Amino acid sequence: MSEEKTEVQLLQDKLFMKKKHAASVIDDSEMQAAMDYAEGYKSFLNDNKTEREVAKFFVAEAEKRGFKPFDRKAKYAPGDKVYYLNRKKAVILAVIGKKSVGEGVRLVAAHIDSPRLDLKPNPLYEANEVALFKTHYYGGIKKYQWPTIPLSLHGVIVRRDGTEVEVSLGEKEGEPQFVISDLLPHLGAEQSKRTLGDGIKGEELNVIVGSLPFKSDSGSELVKLNIMKLLNEKYGISEEDFLTAELEMVPAAKVSDIGFDRSLVGGYGHDDRVCAYPEATAIFGLDEIPEHTSVAILTDKEETGSDGNTGLNSSYLRYFIADLAAMEGLADRDVLSKSKCLSADVNAAFDPTFSSPFEPNNASYLNKGIVVTKYTGARGKSGTSDASAEYVGEVTRILNDSNVVWQLGELGAVDAGGGGTVAMYIANMDVDVIDVGVPVLSMHSPFEVISKLDIYMAHKAFTAFLKS
Ligand code: MN
Ligand code: MN
Repeated sequence: MSEEKTEVQLLQDKLFMKKKHAASVIDDSEMQAAMDYAEGYKSFLNDNKTEREVAKFFVAEAEKRGFKPFDRKAKYAPGDKVYYLNRKKAVILAVIGKKSVGEGVRLVAAHIDSPRLDLKPNPLYEANEVALFKTHYYGGIKKYQWPTIPLSLHGVIVRRDGTEVEVSLGEKEGEPQFVISDLLPHLGAEQSKRTLGDGIKGEELNVIVGSLPFKSDSGSELVKLNIMKLLNEKYGISEEDFLTAELEMVPAAKVSDIGFDRSLVGGYGHDDRVCAYPEATAIFGLDEIPEHTSVAILTDKEETGSDGNTGLNSSYLRYFIADLAAMEGLADRDVLSKSKCLSADVNAAFDPTFSSPFEPNNASYLNKGIVVTKYTGARGKSGTSDASAEYVGEVTRILNDSNVVWQLGELGAVDAGGGGTVAMYIANMDVDVIDVGVPVLSMHSPFEVISKLDIYMAHKAFTAFLKS
C-alpha cells in the first residue's frame, strides 16, 4: 500500500530542484545503448593517446563518411561535408547547413591534447650506467602520480634530411615500456618530509630507457651509446634529431571498465577526449542536413592555455569561419555574432573521498548526466566566459526537449582553486558559449574515471545542439 504524500512533500516535488541518477531516468533500451556506445569510446581511447593520433583518427573517420578537405575557393551546398586539419594537431569538421551562415553556425569545441610528459629537446643521458630521458611535463599534473607506472613513447621525429618518422612504442602486446623510478619506503624518510606537491620534482621525472652497454672494453657513456645505436637502427636517427622531434611519454595502461557493475571507464586522457569523441559521433551521426551549419572543433593546446597556432587562442577558427562567410559574400563577424557554441570540456566530478574542495549544491556528480558549467575561472570568476542567463536557458531547453540528463556544476568551491576552458576564447569572438561536458574523477591523473551514462548523454546533447 503506497502512502499518500504529505502537503510538504507535494510542494517540495513541485518547487525543489532534484537532479537524479541517470539510471533512474532512462529505460532499459537506453541503458543498453549507453553501454554499447562506451565500447566504441574505449577502443578509440586505447588507440589514440596524443593530439596527433587523435587528429589523424578523426580525419580518417571523416574521410570514410564522405568529408572532403576544406577548400576556401570552393562553393559548398547544404549537406556538403568538409574537414580542415591544422598542422596535424587540430581538426575542424563541418556539415554545411540549409540556412545561410549569416544566420550563425552551431559550434561544438573540445580539445584533444592531454597532460603528459614531453621529452626535452636534448633528452638522452647516462647516469650510473643507466640510460634515461629528461622530460618537461605538459599541462597540469600532480608529479608524484607519474613514477612507477608503465609509460609508452609516442610522437614524431623529423630527421636531418627532412623525412619524418612516427613513433609509438609500448602500446602493443610484447613491446617494451618505460618507467620513472621512486625511492623505496625504507629509504624514503627524507623524501617523506617533502610536501605532496614537491614529493617528486620536475627534474626528477626522468624516464629509464635502458641499461646495457655497447660491447667495448674502452670508452665512456657506453649505455647511452648502445641506446643511440638501437634508435639509429630502428628510426634512422642520431642524437641531434631529438632537437627536431616531438616525443611524449604517456601512461601505457589500457582502458578498463571499473566496478563490479562496469558502470565506469578508467583510462588515460578522458580530459578531453571524453568530449571530443561524442562531438565527432554527433556530427558524423547527423541523419539529415542540419538547419545551421554544424562545426565540430577538435583543438590542441588547451592544457597549456590555448596559445600557439594549434590552440583556440590563435586565429585558425576565425579564419575558417571567415572563409565560410566569404563564400556567401559575408564577413566573419556576420557569422560569429549570430553563432552559438558548446565548449565541450570536462568538469571535476564530486569525489566522495576528497570532498572538501567541492561545494555539494553546485558540484557535478558521476552518473547525473552531462554537466553544464556557466563559468569557470578562479579568484572571483577571473579568466572565464560567464554565459548569460538567456543563453543558459536556451541551451538547457534544448537538453530538456531532447531528454538529455544534465546537471549544473561549478569547478570546485569558491577559492578552492579553479581552471579554464576554451570557452572564453570563443566568447571573445562575440559568440554565445557555455561549457557542457562530462564529469571526471581523478582528472589530470594517469588513470582518470568517467561514467558510461554521462558520455552517452554527451553524445545526445551534442547531437541535439547541432540539430537546433
Ligand atoms: Mn579539458
Ligand atoms: Mn584539462
